[in-house]
Formats: sequence, structure tokens, C-alpha cells
Amino acid sequence: MSENNPCLTCGACCAHFRVSFYWGECRSAGGIVPDELVEQISPYHAAMRGTTSKPTRCVSLMGEVGCGVRCTMYEQRSSACREFEASWEHGEHNPRCDAARAAHGLPPLTPPLQPDLSPDRAA
Ligand code: SF4
Ligand code: SF4
Repeated sequence: MSENNPCLTCGACCAHFRVSFYWGECRSAGGIVPDELVEQISPYHAAMRGTTSKPTRCVSLMGEVGCGVRCTMYEQRSSACREFEASWEHGEHNPRCDAARAAHGLPPLTPPLQPDLSPDRAA
């Protein structure tokens, strides 16, 4: 994760959505997500503990939302976390990122400035 990653000073999505995924991603089913950090929410789905009720906050989120945060199981996180991208991370807007940030009083991320490619007036 790069030092410029906006997620390192955010964490809003980890404290806003129910973070659910296919049960088969858990260690006991052959996956990588530690079983003790999840709860089963249906025959086929698990969710990160702390994200199934209000106030929502994943048990694996360390730090203060909007200041400095860290996922304590970054390498073992589920596909739901791996696939959730910050807005504009790869050039695409993610309205759900905006929604999570707004719920925590944070402004939406903005696209990176494009270089000015207009020709110089002075030749
Ligand atoms: S596992 Fe990590 S990345 Fe996923 S919601 Fe929890 S703190 Fe966030
Ligand atoms: S809400 Fe967006 S910026 Fe904040 S941690 Fe999640 S993906 Fe990153």
C-alpha cells in the first residue's frame, strides 16, 4: 500500500458497510480469513465481526476514522475488502466510497489533476 493511499487516513468503508463475503473464504473452509474474526450470517455467507450492527466498525480496523487507520489483517482480508476501491484509485469513481466518507463527515475524493497539455503560446 503506497504512502499516498487515501485509505490510510480514512477507513470510512470499514466503519459503514456490512462487510460480507462467501463463507468459503474463511480458513476453516480452506480460505484465508480468520474464523474468529467473522460471524456466519447465512448458510453461505460470513461477515466481519462489528459490521453487522450499529454502530458499524470492523473488529480489524485500528485507529481513528478520518485520521489514521490500519487493517490488522490486511493480508488475510476477504474479497469484499480487496475489491472495494477508493474513488479514482484506478481512474474510476466509486460512489460507495463517497457514501462511506460522507457518513463520517469526510469529503469525496477527487480525481487527480490532469497535466495541462495545451500548447505554449510563446513558441
Ligand atoms: S478486514 Fe480490514 S479492510 Fe476489511 S473491513 Fe475490516 S478493517 Fe477494513
Ligand atoms: S471509504 Fe474510500 S477512501 Fe475511505 S478507506 Fe474506504 S475505499 Fe478508502
